[in-house]
This record gives sequence, structure tokens and C-alpha cells, in this order.
Amino acid sequence: MQVYMGGIVPISLASLKTSTCLAIFLAGCDFKCPYCNTPEVLDFKAEYLIDILEAKRRINEAQGSYDTVIFTGGEPTLQRQALLNLSRHCKQIGLKVGIQTNGARPTSILSLLRENILDFIEVDLKSQFENNLFEKTTHSKNFFKQTDGIMNEVKETITLLKKNENNLKIFFKTTIVPGLMDKESDLIEIGKTIENIKCVWILQKFNPEKTLDKKYMELKNEEGHIERLREKLSKRFQNMQIDIG
Ligand code: SF4
Repeated sequence: MQVYMGGIVPISLASLKTSTCLAIFLAGCDFKCPYCNTPEVLDFKAEYLIDILEAKRRINEAQGSYDTVIFTGGEPTLQRQALLNLSRHCKQIGLKVGIQTNGARPTSILSLLRENILDFIEVDLKSQFENNLFEKTTHSKNFFKQTDGIMNEVKETITLLKKNENNLKIFFKTTIVPGLMDKESDLIEIGKTIENIKCVWILQKFNPEKTLDKKYMELKNEEGHIERLREKLSKRFQNMQIDIG
């Protein structure tokens, strides 16, 4: 078996309060969010293709320095078999396992949940389920799948997580993108879709250092805007923990 692996680097995950996390970037993504800050791993480039044994060797090499591994990307759930294989391996060598996902592949997430592999999951909610805004924030519509179908897959993931809310830590994340996804009214609509789930909702600061669409590098969050949003949303959704990322 082979895997498109775009990199393996240590990161700090403030949300999990762990300082020893290894991020494995699985290449390829079905979305093309204009503000994406990992544009280099959105395609299945030949240079990323390695044998799964080599991927495991690299993980083993880092073993001992980390207690947690997070599969990110790109979109890790696109490489379902490789993701399952590597996740099982990480679990077997004693690492906690998590994924960062756009949520559009519920069948892959279900496979991980069925094997009890996941300790945590972070699902990016790019916008509320409204065609126009979802398309603008994700550029996900393609020849094979229309926006409605993609949104339904993400909804299915949310339903799946509701059923598993006692078995793993659930994080939802929304990036506050200036002029695109930064209105309180839009965020309230997103909040309504997850308010009944035991989770943490992270309002992620927009990072203009590197973006897929270069125009976005000229934007930045207005000073104090996210803090104000958090305050208002915390009053609106009193049962939900809302953090700033
Ligand atoms: S931000 Fe969007 S384009 Fe980038 S990896 Fe995540 S889902 Fe894919």
C-alpha cells in the first residue's frame, strides 16, 4: 500500500493542551478554500507518494518524543485505507490519535469510529449550510458532486459525531475570514447546527501568511473582532464551550 504524505512535523495543539503532537499531512483535498494555508498539499503530487512502510518508519522514528498524532492535510479522509492503516499503527505503538477534517467523508470517519481508533476529531465548519456561502468558502463544487450533496455529507458527519459524543473529544472549528465568514449572523447559523453536541467550538483566527488565493494575503482580522464574536456567541450558546484558536 502507498500513501500520499506531504510532511510530518511537530505542532502544538492548544485545544488539547498537549505540547507533544506530531502532525502528519496527508496530501490531496476535495475542497479549495481560498484562504487555505496549506496550499502545497492540496494535490496528489507524485513526489508525495511513499510506501506505507516508509510512512510507519518515519512515525516510529519520532516515537518517544510525542504522545499524540494528528492526521491533517489536505483532507486525510480521502485516503481512507492508508489513513486506517496508519491510525491503527499509531494506536498500536501507544499514541493518541486524532484527525482534522472538512467532514465531507463520513464513511471514512465511520470506519475510524467503528475500530475505536480516534481519541479526538476536529471538523472544520466552513460556513452554515447555505449553498452560496458554502461554495464561496470551500470552492468544493465539482463535476461529480454538487454543493447540496457535499453539504449533506458534512451533515451526516455531524449526526455521526452526535451519536459518538461520549466516546471521543469533538472539536468544531470555523475560520473567521475577513469579508467572507466573519458575520455574527452567519456564525449563529453554524452554531445552531452543533449546539446539541458535547464539543468545543474553536473560532480560528485567519492566518494571512500563506493562502491558496493570494488576494487573501492582503486581509487581516479587525482588532478585537474575534473576541467580541466569542463573547456574543457564548451568550447565545450558553451550553457550548467556545474558544479562540
Ligand atoms: S482549508 Fe480547505 S482546501 Fe485547505 S485543506 Fe482544509 S478543506 Fe482543504
